[in-house]
Amino acid sequence: MQTAARKASEIGDLIELRLDCLEPAELEKVNSSLAQFLDSLSLKAILTFRPTEQGGHRAADYQSRYSFWQDRLSQGMTELFDVELDIAAGLVSSNTTLPAARWSHIICSHHDFSGVPANLEQIYEQLANTPARILKIAVQANDVIDCLPIFRLLERARSERRELIAIGMGAAGIATRILGPSRGSFLTYGALEKERGTAPGQITAGELKSLYQIQKIDRQTLICGLVGMPAMHSVSPNMHNAAFDAENVNGVYLPFEVRDVASFFKRMVHPRSREIDWNLRGLSITAPHKSTALEYLDWVEPAASEIGAVNTVVVGADTLLGYNTDAEGMIEPLKMVGDLSGLRVAVIGAGGAASAAVWALQQKNADVTLFVRDQAKGSRLAERFQVSCLPLSHALLSDYAVVINATPLGSLGAAINETPAMAEQLRGARLVYDLVYNPIDTRFLREARKAGCETLGGLEMLVAQARRQFKLWTGKTANPAVMHAAASNALQGQS
Ligand code: NAP
Repeated sequence: MQTAARKASEIGDLIELRLDCLEPAELEKVNSSLAQFLDSLSLKAILTFRPTEQGGHRAADYQSRYSFWQDRLSQGMTELFDVELDIAAGLVSSNTTLPAARWSHIICSHHDFSGVPANLEQIYEQLANTPARILKIAVQANDVIDCLPIFRLLERARSERRELIAIGMGAAGIATRILGPSRGSFLTYGALEKERGTAPGQITAGELKSLYQIQKIDRQTLICGLVGMPAMHSVSPNMHNAAFDAENVNGVYLPFEVRDVASFFKRMVHPRSREIDWNLRGLSITAPHKSTALEYLDWVEPAASEIGAVNTVVVGADTLLGYNTDAEGMIEPLKMVGDLSGLRVAVIGAGGAASAAVWALQQKNADVTLFVRDQAKGSRLAERFQVSCLPLSHALLSDYAVVINATPLGSLGAAINETPAMAEQLRGARLVYDLVYNPIDTRFLREARKAGCETLGGLEMLVAQARRQFKLWTGKTANPAVMHAAASNALQGQS
């Protein structure tokens, strides 16, 4: 606990000590020297002793929790005490009235790990009716729109001049953790280490401070983000936040885990119907929403319509505009090949990235052939763009100047050791281009090197498409080296 507290004081402004995480024998030991321990800390602490039914680690009945808090509160400590609503109610009705000065150290809290309760506002009122100085509500966000009632509660607390901590737990609630303090939340929680958070969806204090720079976020901050399912492991926040910083733009980019894309666009995004007053400027769209998002936009650039997918939304004063920066992002790194006109290019795959690649290559008059596993699906795409379509298995790719992988084969996870083609199929091709960027070096690229081909990884495309997004949202040109370094550092951390 001492080591953890020391580390926490290097990054946090307050330290939460989750006493319920201690073993009974450890707790006894800590109890006898807690005052001394707290004195030794350089920061103020919040003491928490959470029972299992409120998401804690300690099965403790009401009486033992009550006695625990009575003991703590009877000592002259300066810490904050996070007590659940039932304990606060018990303290109110007890014979020994707690002095007001003691209530000014109490955070009265309520947790719900299943979802956002229908009576959230009533729970807030119950908390507000105790003499506790600070109120806390942490509820599970199962979709990004569950953040709405939490932001609404923060607005209410602000107007009623109450200090409130409001958190949407789970990956879908990340927006409340990052934007909460700028909307009046008394604090936000950050884990000391990845995977060691004390609540679902908690990101590290280090990420809150260095990746999202929450200390700089205010109501004027431009908000951008990635819409996907999942969205949490994307390196787009690393690229865009680094660019905001380098270009001196007051902006933040965060992941939005969105299941119900229609509700998200209606209730949180579209300026004419959204229920939240925020400075939303732009969205990146990723799987599985790139095609469905088209339905919710007021205008779509012709390239995106022809490709059949948007990966970028610009939020205007009154309208939503859609773009596809994947096409331009894919083609830009191919500058190294020179003129693509008439060049034979093999594109492997028949999904969204393949569509963007074929469209962009055709703009440059390249001679494209598709290689697919599912002939029926591939033929539909081939017909749309009037290109030929061949089966991928045993494909001979040596006659092609450029071979592009637009499938997820080789991506981090179960497919990491897979490749759409082996060295012997590639020998003779000039350049092999893998759109997969995580990992940076894929099996496909290694096979290509074995075959003596030049190679190009997907990170170059990732940066190029992100730079166009950044320009669309801010009007500024992001430095590619800044975005590249941010993405590759983050990817190396994941591998
Ligand atoms: P998608 O729409 O799901 O399409 C994936 C395509 O890959 C489908 O045609 C699918 O075949 C094919 N495929 C999947 N597994 C296969 C296998 N085992 N053998 C043969 N074909 C297989 O995905 P997407 O959006 O096009 O993305 C594809 C890849 O491009 C992803 O890895 C993504 O990370 C990458 N990408 C990179 C960038 C970048 O900036 N570098 C941008 C966009 C995408 P079926 O048609 O038979 O299902």
